[in-house]
Amino acid sequence: MSSLDLRQLHDTEFPIPDEMQGNLAITSLSKVYNWSRRSSVWPMLFGLACCAIEMIATAASRYDTARFGMEVMRASPRQSDLMIVSGTVTKKMVVPIVRLYNQMPEPKYVIAMGACASGGGPFKEGYNVVSGMDQYVPVDVYIPGCPPTPQALINGLIALQKKIDGQSLANMDDVPWYGVGPSDPVPIPILGPDIIDPRQMGMIREQAMLAAAGQPYGVRELPAVAMQIATKKISAGAAVAAVSAASVVVDAEAEAARLERRQEAVARKRALLAKS
Ligand code: SF4
Repeated sequence: MSSLDLRQLHDTEFPIPDEMQGNLAITSLSKVYNWSRRSSVWPMLFGLACCAIEMIATAASRYDTARFGMEVMRASPRQSDLMIVSGTVTKKMVVPIVRLYNQMPEPKYVIAMGACASGGGPFKEGYNVVSGMDQYVPVDVYIPGCPPTPQALINGLIALQKKIDGQSLANMDDVPWYGVGPSDPVPIPILGPDIIDPRQMGMIREQAMLAAAGQPYGVRELPAVAMQIATKKISAGAAVAAVSAASVVVDAEAEAARLERRQEAVARKRALLAKS
């Protein structure tokens, strides 16, 4: 450890004798803990659109995120601390993004890089783009710009380091992942070719079964349709479609419950972020 690092760590008014300067630091456990974490944040290796090019440039030799201990971009969420959402988040991609977030171990952080990830950007309210990543995962740092420059991303990384510096081991609200019992419930991605509210899956299944049975939408005769399926009065293809729609709902009901837990967890985390 260099003497510069020791000076960063020193966290008390207690005087260090001159002959020990550069060799000794008196500090708190939280300070060491945060210093080690902030100096080795490993971002996840993925990008979504034009902003990702700037993120790649930030990691290259000209800007060199190795100075922050962040050069090791991991190709696995299991080994990542930081998700940099760099680019346009489409409704199709939000599902794997949330799944990747779920697979990251705590403590984990999210940076919304650029206008698209922060709020939809130039495509806001487009038919295929979500209006901000923070509707799906808790975002710690927002970086404005279209695209943000590598300097802006570095500024965001430094802001994240400051946030990590402010988390105290003495306060469980700061480090809930060390608390008793489970941490935040794992959010579940919202499934479907478009963004579908899983709480409406009952209705969706009903309509799918009616469509599979060749009946017009809006006709609610589920028992009759179920009977048709059971007695093979509808085609095998339609039955398969209906059965697969029915199997979706089984998962969807569990998913709806988990989605509610996730929304509660996100609200709790936002409240913590607002306090910090
Ligand atoms: S914010 Fe601008 S540069 Fe970044 S992904 Fe969106 S359109 Fe591209």
